[in-house]
Amino acid sequence: MSDGPTHGFDTLQIHAGARPDPATGARQTPIYQTTAYVFRDADHAAALFNLQEVGFIYSRLTNPTVAVLQERIATLEGGVGAVCCSSGHAAQIMALFPLMAPGCNVVASTRLYGGTVTQLSQTIKRFGWNAKFVDFDDLDAVRDAIDDDTRAVFGESIANPGGYVTDIRAIADITDAAGIPLIIDNTSATPYLCRPIEMGATLVVHSTTKYLTGNGTVTGGCVVDSGKFDWSANDKFPSLSAPEDAYHGLKFHETFGGLAFTFHGIAIGLRDLGMTMNPQAAHYTLMGIETLSLRMERHVQNAEKIAAWLENDDRVDYVTYAGLPSSPYAERAKRVYPKGAGGLFTFAVKGGYDACVKLVNSLEIFSHVANLGDARSLIIHSASTTHRQLSAEQQEAAGAGPNVVRVSIGIEDPADLIADLDQALSTACA
Ligand SMILES: *Cc1c(COP(=O)(O)O)cnc(C)c1O
Repeated sequence: MSDGPTHGFDTLQIHAGARPDPATGARQTPIYQTTAYVFRDADHAAALFNLQEVGFIYSRLTNPTVAVLQERIATLEGGVGAVCCSSGHAAQIMALFPLMAPGCNVVASTRLYGGTVTQLSQTIKRFGWNAKFVDFDDLDAVRDAIDDDTRAVFGESIANPGGYVTDIRAIADITDAAGIPLIIDNTSATPYLCRPIEMGATLVVHSTTKYLTGNGTVTGGCVVDSGKFDWSANDKFPSLSAPEDAYHGLKFHETFGGLAFTFHGIAIGLRDLGMTMNPQAAHYTLMGIETLSLRMERHVQNAEKIAAWLENDDRVDYVTYAGLPSSPYAERAKRVYPKGAGGLFTFAVKGGYDACVKLVNSLEIFSHVANLGDARSLIIHSASTTHRQLSAEQQEAAGAGPNVVRVSIGIEDPADLIADLDQALSTACA
């Protein structure tokens, strides 16, 4: 099958990037469990190492199973190429690495996954990079935060965990005017619910650990490139526009055009940072993606039912689901996610921190885990776990105060999930 743009999402999630195995005809993509690939001859090897020919050398750089996944995700996101990595956090570093240099900064949303707040506010300082956090609803603040040293703007489509919806188009208008790439973490929405590139994003990052795999089996990440950014417009992005000494002065953008970022991600990023996805992980994620649209539809249906039930329960203070008509983001969510606002939300329990702890201890179907995007329903008390490293102010800003729990609604029978929440809330609020 050719992966033409005429095919629908449901077809592409099964077929894009894959073809019967040329050696055996195997219909399912084989797990190419190999470290290295035999060169046809010495000239072939030289051409591969010079990036004059595309092929397989060594699995830190490329692997046929991983390559199918890369093409599949790039196609679903409407990008030109993708690089898979060992985790979502690896993907974020891989996205920033070609853009940043010591002294440069990234302008980031205050409403991000807790681990990303820590990565951007603390760890990247070791590279001499900085992050400036701003409220993405304050468009003037985003504009003002961009300075001569800004090399990227970073946000999430559906922010985890606060029920916050980024107006991607409005942020992209600002980054376009400033000539700065926009990176959107699309983990919580998936390309089924949201296609950030169509709304102006330059790069899309994923934790494939979550909905794309869909059953909590493997960690992985992916960086998708829109292929639309002009890396040579000025001298801000020398990794992509200037001669690369490690490849005899090759200029990635001049040589590979729209694929410059993807080639750089493999030839420099994976080669030297080594945050490679293994073929087993790619296999599990490919299996998951085959049913992505079916699962996301059910995640959304269940989340809508459960959020509405919780909102009407007097043991619950409030529910932050952008799919509820009462959400301040309800209108925006309809525009940005016409198929639904995902399966992730938070709610506040009357009784605060202690009641939240009792609630997570009393649930039977919901599992208390630090994960999301699983077929099974999950819950976490962010303030005592994922957001523990953050200050009280950062917790509130991220929508993870002490009285708040985050749920990742699974695809089980919604009546069973509601009954489970009902009995656990009774215990928690007794
Ligand atoms: C989980 C997650 C990450 C980090 O991904 P890992 O695969 O755990 O490294 C980043 N962003 C979001 C929105 C996530 O949910």
